[in-house]
Amino acid sequence: MAALHQVCVYCGSSDHISPAYLDAARAMGQTLARRGIRLVFGGGKQGMMGALADAALAAGGEVIGVIAEVFNTPEQAHPGVTTLHVFDSMHTRKAHMAALGEGFIGLPGGLGTLEELFEMLAWCQIGLHDKPVAVLNTLGYFDRLLQAIDHARAEGFIYDQARSSLLCDADPDELIELMLAHQPRTGTDRRLKRQEEG
Ligand code: AMP
Repeated sequence: MAALHQVCVYCGSSDHISPAYLDAARAMGQTLARRGIRLVFGGGKQGMMGALADAALAAGGEVIGVIAEVFNTPEQAHPGVTTLHVFDSMHTRKAHMAALGEGFIGLPGGLGTLEELFEMLAWCQIGLHDKPVAVLNTLGYFDRLLQAIDHARAEGFIYDQARSSLLCDADPDELIELMLAHQPRTGTDRRLKRQEEG
């Protein structure tokens, strides 16, 4: 990949987390802004989402919020994003985020974050996109998840190439470098291609 113009970041909405995670979200937002990469995110003002967007905006970055109607309330929606796209359902909203992102980053988060991240990984595996998918491994947050994925690989449920397409680093700048260097193509892509050809 030659350049990243906008990336989609999935992250937690909880406020009941260690300040170290919020610092990591801010560092990610600053890194994106400094590199001139537009941030696409869930449009919320709480938890990691708020810290990420606040930091990107404060550093002069452009921020696109993509929010479902149900979250578009003064209590939940971020008031200062550059552009806010509102969708009637979570499904249409997620599809729009997936289309906008030239790459996907998961920051520490809960079920919503993990679901969005895994959807992008699974879509990559079956060849629906070939964009980089990465996690910011703050405080080793994703270590156990990566172990679970490695277990699934060892048991034969996940292909080596699908596992290796998940990029991981604790440093935002290094993570972006990994995404820029990423060479797409998964084993399943090739299987799909063979099916199409055969
Ligand atoms: P969670 O990790 O469970 O906190 O969920 C965070 C993810 O779900 C985000 O990436 C958002 O896409 C979505 N989400 C959850 N809560 C909100 C909210 N209050 N406003 C906007 N999006 C939300």
